[in-house]
Amino acid sequence: MHAVTRAQPVPFLDLSTQYKSLETEWLAAIRETGARGSFILGPHTQAFEKEFAEYVGVKHAIAVANGTDSLYLSLRALGVGKGDEVITTPFTFFASAETIDMVGATPVFVDILPDSFCLDPASVRAKITAKTKAIVPVHIFGHPSEMGEIMEIAKKHKLAVVEDCAQSFGALHNGKVVGALGDTGSFSFYPTKVLGCYGDGGMVTTNSDAVNEHIRRLRNHGAVKPFLHTEIGMNSRLDEVQAAVLRLKLKRIKDDIAGRQKVAAEYTKRFAGSPVKTPALPKHGTHVFNLYTVRIPKRDAVRQALTDAQIGTSQCYPQGLHLQEVYKHLNYKPGSLPVCEHACTETLSLPVYPGMPPEHIERVCEVLLAAIKG
Ligand SMILES: *Cc1c(COP(=O)(O)O)cnc(C)c1O
Repeated sequence: MHAVTRAQPVPFLDLSTQYKSLETEWLAAIRETGARGSFILGPHTQAFEKEFAEYVGVKHAIAVANGTDSLYLSLRALGVGKGDEVITTPFTFFASAETIDMVGATPVFVDILPDSFCLDPASVRAKITAKTKAIVPVHIFGHPSEMGEIMEIAKKHKLAVVEDCAQSFGALHNGKVVGALGDTGSFSFYPTKVLGCYGDGGMVTTNSDAVNEHIRRLRNHGAVKPFLHTEIGMNSRLDEVQAAVLRLKLKRIKDDIAGRQKVAAEYTKRFAGSPVKTPALPKHGTHVFNLYTVRIPKRDAVRQALTDAQIGTSQCYPQGLHLQEVYKHLNYKPGSLPVCEHACTETLSLPVYPGMPPEHIERVCEVLLAAIKG
């Protein structure tokens, strides 16, 4: 017991160590921005849009205020609206579905695959109706969705595809970076994401010139030129302070992703032969481990043991979105989407970030394995 109480706490995430390594360069960029007096959609944002598009391998990247707006603006620009149905996963953060409602459409939740936790293409096929207008696959935890099959389904039924890449910056699928596969890719730069800023930020990627132009208008109040408005848009822009830090982080992103993958590989090695079901690796791509989520028996008791030992964890996700109070009117019942509901009872996300100290990894494994046995 003494060893437990004396041990160092293990945080779920440590953002300040990396901040310290970027501080000098970032503060210099902020000072330079202040001197220039260009604070929103200025030279840093323009350069970042170009660098981002190059990295993802798309024609256009449009910087917006956050990941939620990037989903909403994608759906708007692709013509999704009132009366339309959009197929998505219930095993995700709320924004993936919320934005479907925000454009006036109805989310249709289908089941997931038990290993990757991503959208099950067979379940997508089964739920297509005359009203289906789009699919929103979510590359959850950093694992790419089954984009080959999903794009085939979309092509056959003439559906738009909005990739939710909020948790998967840099993940590869068949040699392409996610965000380059669907009609649009939607990214969040919330600080905890693989590529995160020091505030809020988001990005839309697309190869379509029309979608690019439309989103650029929508993010700036539907203005085609100053004070000339042709439609209702919104204010969703990225500021220079965030663009500056994102440019610095993008330069180091390969090391950051490798750092996450290294922590994940160490966990997976340590859990081999135990009852811990470690995250599946994609067959034709890479996992970037925004979250390292395992399936375990006695999840709640194990999580409590980790909490007691001052080890940070997260329960992604405690409930399928189809069973959320707000979606009562859609009439899903417990048992409607069994693979998702079963995952909700077993999943636990463990601490993972680039540069996580080996002794912290060691401690998580030790406490978790002891709790499972106990
Ligand atoms: C974080 C997240 C979002 C929303 O991004 P914000 O920048 O917080 O608006 C959307 N979808 C998923 C899957 C996310 O993890």
